[in-house]
Amino acid sequence: MTPRVGIIGAGMAGYGAAHRLVEAGLQPVIYERRDHYGGHTATYHLEAGFTFDEGPHISFTSDPRIQRILADAVDGDYETLHAKVNNYWRGHWIKHPVQVNLHGLPTELVVRVLRDFIAAQHADEGPIGNYEEWLRASFGDTLAETFPMEYTRKNHTTEARNLSTDWIGPRLYRPQLEEVLAGALSAETSDVHYITEFRYPRHGGFVSYLRRFMESADVRLRHRVAAVDPRERVLTFADGTQSGYDRLISSMPLPELARIIDGAPPDVIEAAGLLAASEVVVVNLGIDRPDVIDAHWTYFYDPDILFARLSTPFLQSSHNVPDGTSSLQAEVYYSAKYRPLTMSLDEVSDRVVADLVRCGILREEDRILVRHAVHVRYANVIFDHDRADAVALIHAYLDELGIAYCGRYGEWGYLWTDESFISGERAADAVLAMP
Ligand SMILES: Cc1cc2nc3c(=O)[nH]c(=O)nc-3n(C[C@H](O)[C@H](O)[C@H](O)COP(=O)(O)OP(=O)(O)OC[C@H]3O[C@@H](n4cnc5c(N)ncnc54)[C@H](O)[C@@H]3O)c2cc1C
Repeated sequence: MTPRVGIIGAGMAGYGAAHRLVEAGLQPVIYERRDHYGGHTATYHLEAGFTFDEGPHISFTSDPRIQRILADAVDGDYETLHAKVNNYWRGHWIKHPVQVNLHGLPTELVVRVLRDFIAAQHADEGPIGNYEEWLRASFGDTLAETFPMEYTRKNHTTEARNLSTDWIGPRLYRPQLEEVLAGALSAETSDVHYITEFRYPRHGGFVSYLRRFMESADVRLRHRVAAVDPRERVLTFADGTQSGYDRLISSMPLPELARIIDGAPPDVIEAAGLLAASEVVVVNLGIDRPDVIDAHWTYFYDPDILFARLSTPFLQSSHNVPDGTSSLQAEVYYSAKYRPLTMSLDEVSDRVVADLVRCGILREEDRILVRHAVHVRYANVIFDHDRADAVALIHAYLDELGIAYCGRYGEWGYLWTDESFISGERAADAVLAMP
C-alpha cells in the first residue's frame, strides 16, 4: 500500500516536499489555508499591469540542482541580474555593505568609525554572548551603533543585545582593516555582498517558479488545518471537515502547529508561546515615471523613516510594470512580542509615501498609479534568547509523534527559498524512510 501523505502548506517547503514525493512515485495531498498557492512567494497581479510579490523575492541560490529545477519550471524564461544594493543614511547614499564603503560620509563620522574599528581589532574579543557584542567586536562601537544596531531595531523589532548570533552566516560581512581603509578613501570598491547575481522569472512574478508543479499537484486550497489528531492520524479543517493521512509533513508555523495538536503537553504549549517572529507590512506603489530609483534594494537606517528596506520590482523584470512606469516595495516590520502593529494599513502606507518624498525618492508631483498594502503575519523568525531551547523542545515532540516539519516556519529558522525547498525535500525523505 502506498502511504497517503498530507502536506500542510503550499509554499516553497511544501513544493520541495511534494516534488520529492512525486519523484518517488507518490501522490501527496497539499492542504493550503489560503485561496492561492505560493505562501510567502505568492505574487499579486494588480490593476493596470503592476505585479508585486509578497515581499521582495529573488532567487540567489548557488546550488546548481535547485537552479536547474527553477529554470526548468519556467522553461528558461528568467532574467539574470547583477545585484545593485544600496544603503540610505541621513541623506547619504552608500554602497552596500557600509563597513567597506565609508567614502563620502561625514569626515568626523569616518574618523570615529576607523578609530573604533582599529581598537576593536586589538581588543580581546572574549566570549560573545549576543548580537550586540558580536557587532561591537566585528566593527567597533561607532559603526555598530550607527548602522546595524539601528537596522536591527527596524528589521528585527528589538535590541541587538536580545538576539543570539547563530543566524548571522554570510549576512554581515566582517572585513579586514585594509578593506575598511580602502572603502573610506575611495568610491571604487569591489562587491563583497553575499548576493552578487540573482535570477527572477521574466513573466508572472516569483510564483511562476511554482506554477506548473502546483497546478498539476493535488493542492486543496482554502483548507486551513485547525486540528491534528496524531493518534488517529486525522486532520480537521476550519470548516469542520476531516481527512485521514498515513504520514504528515508540516510547513505551517511551528507555534501554531504545536497549539493545534490534540493532547499537546503543557511544556510544548509553553514553548510555543516563547517563539517570536516579525510581521511585515509590505507597501506596494506603482509610479507614473520609469526612473524612480536605480537599485534592486536599499537598506534604511534612520529611525524616523518607517520602512527598513525598499525594493524595485520593475528592475527585477520589466514585465512587472506597464511601459513608462516603475514600482516600489517598502517593508515595515512589527512583532507581537516586541513592537506590535498599532497603525492601520492605510496609515502605514501614508507614512511610507511621506518618507519616500522626504528622502527624495518620490517627488511631490509623482502620480501614484497603484497603492496596495499587505500584512504578512510571519516574516522573519526573531532569534532571541528564548528561541533555541523552545524550538528543540517542540521539534523533539514532533519527532516523537512522527510528524515531519520543514521550511522557514516549520524549522523556525532563517531559511531562504532554496533552503525552504530543500528542507521540504528532507522532510519527504524522512517520511519515505518511515516504516
Ligand atoms: C520580506 C521577505 C523577503 C524575502 N526575500 C527572499 C528572497 O529574496 N529570496 C529568498 O530566497 N528568500 C526570501 N525570503 C525567504 C522566503 O520567503 C522563505 O524562505 C520561503 O518563502 C518560505 O517558504 P515556506 O514554504 O517555508 O513558508 P511559507 O511560504 O510561509 O508557506 C507556508 C504555507 O503554509 C500555509 N499555512 C499556514 N498555516 C496553515 C494551516 N493551518 N493550514 C493550511 N495551510 C497553512 C501558509 O498559508 C503558507 O502558504 C524572504 C522572506 C521575507 C520575510
